[in-house]
Amino acid sequence: MQTIAHWVDGKSFTGTSTATAPVTNPATGVVTGQVSLANAADVRTVADAAAAAFPAWRDASLSKRTQVLFRFRELLNARKEEIAAIITAEHGKVLSDALGEVTRGLEVVEFACGIPHLLKGGYTENASSKVDIFSIRQPLGPIAIISPFNFPAMVPMWFFPLAIAAGNTVVLKPSEKDPSAALWTAALWEEAGLPAGVFNVVQGDKVAVDELLENPAIKAVSFVGSTPIAKYVYERGTAHGKRVQALGGAKNHMVVLPDADLDLAADAAVNAGFGSAGERCMAISALVAVGPIADDLVARIAQRTKTIRTGDGTKGSDMGPLVTEAHRDRVASYIAAGESAGATVVLDGRTVDADGAADGFWLGPTILDNVTPEMSVYTDEIFGPVLSVVRVDTYDEALALINNNQYGNGTAIFTNDGGAARRFHNEVEVGMVGINVPIPVPMAYYSFGGWKNSLFGDSHAHGIDGVHFFTRTKAVTSRWLDPSHGGLNLGFPQNN
Ligand code: NAD
Repeated sequence: MQTIAHWVDGKSFTGTSTATAPVTNPATGVVTGQVSLANAADVRTVADAAAAAFPAWRDASLSKRTQVLFRFRELLNARKEEIAAIITAEHGKVLSDALGEVTRGLEVVEFACGIPHLLKGGYTENASSKVDIFSIRQPLGPIAIISPFNFPAMVPMWFFPLAIAAGNTVVLKPSEKDPSAALWTAALWEEAGLPAGVFNVVQGDKVAVDELLENPAIKAVSFVGSTPIAKYVYERGTAHGKRVQALGGAKNHMVVLPDADLDLAADAAVNAGFGSAGERCMAISALVAVGPIADDLVARIAQRTKTIRTGDGTKGSDMGPLVTEAHRDRVASYIAAGESAGATVVLDGRTVDADGAADGFWLGPTILDNVTPEMSVYTDEIFGPVLSVVRVDTYDEALALINNNQYGNGTAIFTNDGGAARRFHNEVEVGMVGINVPIPVPMAYYSFGGWKNSLFGDSHAHGIDGVHFFTRTKAVTSRWLDPSHGGLNLGFPQNN
């Protein structure tokens, strides 16, 4: 049985804690490794290494930093199948989907390769007589990245390419459910020529997170996970003087107006509802059917969903298992709760016959119709392959549903009416909006993030928000000696 350790200063680190957690292959139910769970002293060792590496990396030239990033990009692109296989073995998503998340992470690496342009400041000559002002962006220091289980490669890559490119050092704490992708990434950075100590990994749970939130060496925290933990991380991290961006949970609605192309909408609902077994923060979990199309739309979705094959990928499955047995059972309990609250079970994933080992954490795609807003299957983030259909009569009712929801991560509208689509993107209180696009994850050069309880903090991930989050600005006012400006003047500086 392998032990999955930490990575500090360019090498594997066992730490002093003896606590571990099992890592399981969700498609077989077999425990494949034990991940170390750091104690506070272990986290301090890692944070100290990141702090020690900071001064030299901060002062490394932009051309040296970007050379390392370009090499990392090339290596990752050439070897992405390796990390995708690691993701599939610990997360359970099918290989094509694992490759997809690596590719979306690569986009951020490519964006970060342009850091010299992104860090450029402003310069004003003669702001006052012979006085010039310029602004610069400087890195913060060691950054903690705390990531969720559902994207073990992509979510950390939303942050660390820009953090490192901007001259910071990084401590990544991946999810204890799928910790190995982070170590593979650390070894790749080493191969790309990143100096030891710039990218470190600490494995752990709440104990490690709490130390990262309080450790004075850590200057900023990028967190992604469920809403209660995101709120906690934001409050505790900021209380300890850190800059924090904490991305939380979601309940993403897809509105289908009566004039929509129903085949396009049905394809989109199935892809966005059941891709990665619904374990995506941008998955569609609530389909809002407006007006008389509901019966027709549900029938088209059900017909497509019946063709989805659940399994371990060996027989060309579309959808893998859920991440743990406990999570599978929790999602199944929501289906039962919806059924007993009066929802119509159109397709029941609890009876799935999966292409995989008997002990895999299987749950097939499930469609619940006639879901109402007070049912737990609607109010809670389920994070599984369950598509709830809510029927409403008007666009206004659909909009009110979304705007009254505590989450505001992603949403989509399907319509052929440009005016309705424009009204929707103007009125909806959600951070990422799709128009006839069901999973509107922005490209790396835009920023990713939700509103309301889907994000705590001011900055979204990557894009310009990311550059700003990982740097702080300094404005320099400069005058080179000029005898005519000598003399005392106690007044407040003014332009002249
Ligand atoms: P989680 O909140 O359980 O864990 C996230 C991280 O927090 C992990 O590293 C975990 O070790 C740590 N953690 C867990 N419990 C903690 C505690 N009590 N105190 C401190 N740290 C703790 O989330 P998860 O189950 O790994 O991931 C799924 C969740 O993440 C979903 O809610 C999903 O919507 C959300 N998510 C959001 C986005 C987004 O962009 N908004 C993206 C991906 C996932």
